[in-house]
Amino acid sequence: MKRSPRPLRDDPPGHAGPVEPPFDLVLGACRLPNPPATAEPGRAVPETPLVDVGCREGAIAEIGALAGRPARRTIDCGGRAVTPGLVEAHIHLDKALLSERAPGLEGTLDEAIRVTGHAKRRFTVDDIRTRARAVLDLAVAHGTTAMRSHVEVDPIVGLKGFEALAPLRDEYRPALDLQLCAFAQEGILQSPGTEALLRRALREGADLVGGCPYNDTDARAQIDIVFRLAREFDVDADFHADFFDEPEHLHVRYIAEQAVRLGWQGRVAVGHVTELDALPVGEQDAVIAEIRAAGLGVITLPATDLYLMGRGDTHKVRRGLAPAKRLLAGGVAVAAATNNVRNAFTPVGNADPALMAFLLTVGAHMGTRAEQAQALAMITTEPARMLRLGDRALAEGRPADLVVWEAAALDEAVGGVAPRRLVVKSGRVTVEHRHTVDEPWRASRASGV
Ligand SMILES: [Zn+2]
Repeated sequence: MKRSPRPLRDDPPGHAGPVEPPFDLVLGACRLPNPPATAEPGRAVPETPLVDVGCREGAIAEIGALAGRPARRTIDCGGRAVTPGLVEAHIHLDKALLSERAPGLEGTLDEAIRVTGHAKRRFTVDDIRTRARAVLDLAVAHGTTAMRSHVEVDPIVGLKGFEALAPLRDEYRPALDLQLCAFAQEGILQSPGTEALLRRALREGADLVGGCPYNDTDARAQIDIVFRLAREFDVDADFHADFFDEPEHLHVRYIAEQAVRLGWQGRVAVGHVTELDALPVGEQDAVIAEIRAAGLGVITLPATDLYLMGRGDTHKVRRGLAPAKRLLAGGVAVAAATNNVRNAFTPVGNADPALMAFLLTVGAHMGTRAEQAQALAMITTEPARMLRLGDRALAEGRPADLVVWEAAALDEAVGGVAPRRLVVKSGRVTVEHRHTVDEPWRASRASGV
């Protein structure tokens, strides 16, 4: 292979000079993702030069040729691709890993809500926390350095989900920033008591509030309640919205309207929004303009959406994805996220955001060099902005949350869903993957055995 990375090597520490404080960590010989502008249609992508990335006090202090500069730890990355840390914008830790006990048979949204709601009656704090830890461990190992998890808060499960997950924010802080969204999956008006429980979760430290207007008796009234709570506690809002094949709700328009009216621009995310794809292009662009004007972030959830949408189609089965490319072209912030890991909503998954970028490449026709770079941004810098974590680009002065991929280029990293080699959080190595592959077939072929 042309650009096979060298083995990873820990170099001996450099010596601190009298004036310059040492870097805490230097990642040497990194290949940063090509800016899309370097790609020309049909032309080979020029190889980017290798650079060193120096981290100090949790931030990227310098990018360039840093050989010989003092550092407490230097790791030669051998030409591997290095990207910002992955940001999981939308996941459900509390209802992950339920496929065994609450499987779906029809594969519809109705069924998923029903069977998961039934399983929820038997949740305990320990059970939720054990499953959540399993998913967090997977996510961290994949290079996830920030995450927003929804936590269901309703009369069925009470605050058990929040009690289970709240301590995990501290437990996982060295590896990942975890936000918890108090989420009304079962509705608010049709599920009396939910509003009071949401308020309690927020009082006890939930980071933001989430609604699900399609699953309620009065969608607009629910949206109003969620915004009222967001304002009362001065937190962001995150809606599951318009999760159908036909444009029969388009609640996103009312959400956008309220975000503008209440001054919540840039503080609201909407997940799914699959209905938008069913609108004729002109109408779609008008709604996209409203979404942009309201500063809503859109989170596409390709594993769940591809799995649950189009179920009524007997032929020409729809993909049922939010129109990511049109949203991006319209200037909307778009993230791709996991949503569910092995439950009735999505029977597959391993909490690797890179899988979502991979699915978008094929599912949303995002295969050009520039689109692959966008897909990477949709699991790194875009969701970071949406979660209001600031600019997490791989640049000097930004947080040193980084992933070293077992790949030499972006198309291998995202397109090949390459294994991760190292994960760095706030300038510290948090995960090191080592794997060896034995290939006895080669020897047996050579020896004729
Ligand atoms: Zn969700």
